[in-house]
Amino acid sequence: MRFDTIIIGGGLAGLVCGIKLQKAGQKCAIVSAGQSAMHFSSGTFDLLGRLPDGTEVESPLEAMASLPAEHPYSVLGVEKVAEYAAQAKEFFAECGIKVNGDASRNSWRVTPTGERKAAWLTLGDFTPPASREEKIGNKALIINILGYLDFNTKFLADSFEKQGTECRIASIKLEEMERLRKNPSEMRSTNIARVMDRDGIWEKTADQIKTLIKGEDIVVLPAVFGLKDASVVEKLREAIGIKTMFVATMPPSVPGIRTQMTLKSEFEKAGGRFFLGDTVTESTADEKGQIRNISTVNFNDIRMEADNFVLATGSFFSKGLIATPDKIYEPVFGIDLTYNEGRENWFNTNFWKKQNYISFGARVDADLNASIDGNKISNLYAIGSVTGGTNALYEGCGGGVAIITALAAADRILEKK
Ligand SMILES: Cc1cc2nc3c(=O)[nH]c(=O)nc-3n(C[C@H](O)[C@H](O)[C@H](O)COP(=O)(O)OP(=O)(O)OC[C@H]3O[C@@H](n4cnc5c(N)ncnc54)[C@H](O)[C@@H]3O)c2cc1C
Repeated sequence: MRFDTIIIGGGLAGLVCGIKLQKAGQKCAIVSAGQSAMHFSSGTFDLLGRLPDGTEVESPLEAMASLPAEHPYSVLGVEKVAEYAAQAKEFFAECGIKVNGDASRNSWRVTPTGERKAAWLTLGDFTPPASREEKIGNKALIINILGYLDFNTKFLADSFEKQGTECRIASIKLEEMERLRKNPSEMRSTNIARVMDRDGIWEKTADQIKTLIKGEDIVVLPAVFGLKDASVVEKLREAIGIKTMFVATMPPSVPGIRTQMTLKSEFEKAGGRFFLGDTVTESTADEKGQIRNISTVNFNDIRMEADNFVLATGSFFSKGLIATPDKIYEPVFGIDLTYNEGRENWFNTNFWKKQNYISFGARVDADLNASIDGNKISNLYAIGSVTGGTNALYEGCGGGVAIITALAAADRILEKK
C-alpha cells in the first residue's frame, strides 16, 4: 500500500494535518489505534493559559515571546504561530465545526467543577465568560437529568454564587431515560446524548425545562446534547427561549467525540483512508536514514509505504510515549526525545504540583522534523502532544500545540512538492 503521506495517530493533530494535506491533493492515510484525548476534551482548545513560571496569560500571542526556546511555539516562531492560529477558525468552519474565540485574548471556560480556565477556541455549544470574574447572569437555574452523576450541580452553584449569581438546582425526568437509569453505569454522557438525539426527545426536554423556569435569566445544562451533530444544541437553545449555557461534564465528552467524528468524516470525504483500531508497530529506514515504510498489527507483513510520515501518537496517555522504570522512549521510530534524566526528576509526589513528565516528548526542529541519534529525518514529522518542550496541562496549550503544529507540518510537506 502506497500513500503520499501516512499519519500515525488520528487524534486532533493527526486529523487536522490529514485534512489539510488531503484537501491539497495528497493521498493520505491515517492509522489510529483507538480513542484520543478528544474523547475527554473540555470542548475548548487552549492556546496558552499560563507561562512555565506560573504567570497567568490574558493575551496568548503577546505572551508567547516569553516562552522558552524549546517550546513548539518558539520553535515555529511566534509570527508563524499567529498565522496558523488565524487559519484555525477558518479550518474548523470549512469542516462544519463552529468555534468561537480569538488568539489575541483568552476567554474563560467553566470546568465541570465550576472553576474557570483560559480558553482559545470554544465549540459553538459553549458560551465562555469573557473574564474570570464575569457573572453568568443574575439568577441561574442549573438543571440536571435525574440519575446522571457526572454533572456536579452543587459545585457549579457554589462557584456561580461566589460571583454573585443566585442559583437554583432542579432536575428533569424523561421516561425515555428510564432504561439507562436502572443501571447507573449506563447513565453516561454519550448514552444520554444518543437518547437526546432521537426525534421528539429534545422537544420534550425543552418543554420540561420551560416549566421549571421561575424568573431566572439563564439556564445551565450539562453538555450531553448532539453526539452526531450540533444542531440539537441550537434547537434546544431556541426552544428554551432564555440564555442557555452548556457546561462540560466529566468524561466522556459529547462535544469532543462529535468533533472527532466530524473531523474523521471530513478527512474521509476528502478521500483520505482512516485505518481505525490498528497500531503501527515498527518502521524501516533506507541507507540515508529516510523512513520508507511502516508495519501495523492488522496488516502484519504488508508494509505501508509513503514519501512522508507524520507522528501524531500523543503523549503517555495515548501510548505515543512509553515510560519504563529507567527510560522514556517513543515506540514506533525510536526518535530522540527531550526528557530529564533520572526518574526522580520525572514527577512530583504532590499530585497537584506541576509534573515534569508531561513536558517530555519528541525533539523537533523548525521544520518539525524528528531526529534519530541526532540525525534529522527529513521525511518524518512529529506533531501534537507527542512533541516535547511544553507542559500542556500546566500551561494550558494542548489544543493549540496540536492544531498549530499539524497545520505547520502539512505546509512543510506541501512546500516540498
Ligand atoms: C484527558 C485529556 C484531556 C484533554 N483535554 C483538553 C482540552 O479540553 N483542551 C485542550 O486544549 N487540550 C486538552 N488536552 C491536551 C491534548 O493533549 C490536546 O488538546 C490534543 O487533543 C492532543 O492531540 P494529539 O492528536 O496530539 O494526541 P491524542 O489525542 O492523544 O491522539 C493520539 C492518537 O494516536 C493513537 N496512537 C498512539 N500510538 C499509536 C500507534 N503506535 N499506532 C497507531 N495509533 C497510535 C492513539 O490511539 C490516539 O488516537 C487533553 C489531554 C488529555 C490527556
